[in-house]
Amino acid sequence: MRMLPSWIACRVRRFCYPHLRKRTGDNGAQSVKCGRPQGISVSYRNMVAKARYFTIKGRGMKLKTLSSKIWMPTDLREAWRLRQLLQLESHFIAGGTLWQTKWEKGAPQPSHLISLENIKILEAIYEKEDGGQNFLHLGALIRLADCLRHPIIKAKWPLLTKAVKTIAAPAVRNVGTIGGNVASTIGDAIPALLVMEAKIGCFDGDDIKKIDLDHWLNEEFKDDLITEIVVPEISAPPSYVHFYQKIGRREAFSGSVVTIAGIIGQNDNGTIDFARLAAGGGENRPRRLRITEQLLAGRKVESAMLKKVHEAVFSEFQPVGDAFFSADYRRRVAANIVIAELKKLEEKD
Ligand SMILES: Cc1cc2nc3c(=O)[nH]c(=O)nc-3n(C[C@H](O)[C@H](O)[C@H](O)COP(=O)(O)OP(=O)(O)OC[C@H]3O[C@@H](n4cnc5c(N)ncnc54)[C@H](O)[C@@H]3O)c2cc1C
Repeated sequence: MRMLPSWIACRVRRFCYPHLRKRTGDNGAQSVKCGRPQGISVSYRNMVAKARYFTIKGRGMKLKTLSSKIWMPTDLREAWRLRQLLQLESHFIAGGTLWQTKWEKGAPQPSHLISLENIKILEAIYEKEDGGQNFLHLGALIRLADCLRHPIIKAKWPLLTKAVKTIAAPAVRNVGTIGGNVASTIGDAIPALLVMEAKIGCFDGDDIKKIDLDHWLNEEFKDDLITEIVVPEISAPPSYVHFYQKIGRREAFSGSVVTIAGIIGQNDNGTIDFARLAAGGGENRPRRLRITEQLLAGRKVESAMLKKVHEAVFSEFQPVGDAFFSADYRRRVAANIVIAELKKLEEKD
């Protein structure tokens, strides 16, 4: 067997046996060098060790060490205080799957990662009545796979199930969380949550405030600790059309070009009396298409109207293009999907 050069062997040993490291030794110094932010009682458990991974490339071995420190707070207050103290040098991390894609593309690693995985309150999932309406409370740490499997979500929030099903592959969904998807501001679950008028719980150091997801997405700087996503149940008549479509470069396991969701309903006269639309996709932050919604309200589905709606979606949806798909292409795709769904409504009539 070929011997590894000593410096590699040393790093492998540190990776495999992190608990053998001395706190003040050459490697343990990593956790000591920056020190613990003053006034914080956060467990050092798993701290540096968790952040290590390595890749083996070609014949030689290439060790890649995540240099960030991982903090493992056990309650919201600790997590929030850490974020306040460490500020821009830190980020929250839940499943880490989005971070993984960013680092693979060469994004710099932050000095500190504040892991939310030990905060048990973020794992709650339940439904609750409030003011005569039923709400789904989804803790931010709920895995995407659990959203998919949950029988109550399947039965009462099928649009959410439909959206989550399009996100990544099962292995990623087993790790990625709904909170991470929303906090990313570009996650594919967001258009579905927007048309259901979901709210998010944000912890501000003292309290959890409920904020409209739509409103939150429209604000520029995002530094909130999301605790839960609260989704009202929409008891729409069967004549309503609910849709969610993700258009990608291939049918599955693909990033989205356009992601669009909607709920459209008409009354007995064939007049539209309920319209909610939201579109996003790629690096575009999803938005409600409120101008188009207003145009739809009170109208009947007919060819002159469909033309106007197509134009309205085309001008209201303002995505950015990239090397593969222009902004115009994305706008056209979004407009075509809305028209196709309106035609389904016409057929139901
Ligand atoms: C191969 C692959 C394919 C993917 N495909 C898709 C896809 O098709 N559609 C899609 O939408 N995503 C996709 N993703 C991205 C990712 O898996 C999902 O968006 C997932 O839901 C992110 O959750 P996470 O817990 O892993 O987030 P993390 O990576 O842990 O965090 C994502 C962001 O959210 C922040 N964050 C996480 N939790 C919170 C919180 N509670 N409060 C405040 N901020 C928080 C983090 O700071 C970070 O900025 C893919 C990822 C991979 C690796």
